[in-house]
Amino acid sequence: MFDNLSLKLDKAFKTLKGQGSITEVNVATTMKEIRRALIDADVNYKVAKDVTDEIKEKALGQDVLTAVSPGQLLTKITNDELTQLMGGSHEDINIKGSPAVILISGLQGSGKTTFSGKLANMLKKQGNTVMLAACDIYRPAAIDQLKVLGEQIGVEVYAEPENKNAVQIANNAIKAAKDGGKKVLIVDTAGRLAVDEEMMNEISDLKKALDPSETLFVVDSMTGQDAVNTAKTFNERLNFDGVVLTKLDGDTRGGAAISIRRVVEKPIKFISHGEKMEAIDKFHPDRMANRILG
Ligand code: GDP
Repeated sequence: MFDNLSLKLDKAFKTLKGQGSITEVNVATTMKEIRRALIDADVNYKVAKDVTDEIKEKALGQDVLTAVSPGQLLTKITNDELTQLMGGSHEDINIKGSPAVILISGLQGSGKTTFSGKLANMLKKQGNTVMLAACDIYRPAAIDQLKVLGEQIGVEVYAEPENKNAVQIANNAIKAAKDGGKKVLIVDTAGRLAVDEEMMNEISDLKKALDPSETLFVVDSMTGQDAVNTAKTFNERLNFDGVVLTKLDGDTRGGAAISIRRVVEKPIKFISHGEKMEAIDKFHPDRMANRILG
């Protein structure tokens, strides 16, 4: 996904090759190229500006007698800055309570149901007993989709297809999970094609009623800057704990992965890169920075 960005960054650092030291002029030129490359990769403009200003300041503050070349030095500083920008280190989800409730939010089509299945699968493989709850009261197909996934991964799915009260279904699911001795209950919810008041009220009500130990916001990375804006809007209403970035296998320029943490001030906790149940990874900022820098 970062092929284009990696190429451009590599080119920017190469222009420094052969130059003996870091100077105001060569750093300024390189930073301009890096900023343009980030913006082309759909990184939020302010984030791109801030991060290049920070790299520049660090580079100019370095001892000129340093043993490494300017190109190497700037690559290292950029790597560190990108890692920090994306949160520094991996943050795990909170699993507390009996059962621990994990609430999944996001727009329709972002990949919530698929991710719910993937997370259930991952937690099960780690030795947890897991139950899924289908709380999409608008799309009967979503209930079926979750049931199919549940069967595939061997995880029980709680559903009440006739009930149109998501809070009630989720509360009943908590009871069922408790009775069944499950450690974790993952609650899949209804999305909309775009942010609207009704959806926000529904998901906020669910959060209030369930008091989840973890609320995750799922967003399609291919929507670029919109992904960041939607995350900001959801967070203002929902105060979620972490972001799940999906479809990183698709034709995404990756900007959302770089911008979200700084703009929304919440960590990306998982990335999803395919439709298969195994196509999920914990998000590690340092690994992502290494990937960006090629
Ligand atoms: P929901 O409406 O938010 O529950 O979204 P779904 O889980 O139904 O996903 C919408 C579509 O995106 C489905 O066709 C999924 O198979 C697909 N999808 C979900 N996650 C990924 C992913 O990481 N990569 C790709 N390529 N497709 C995905």
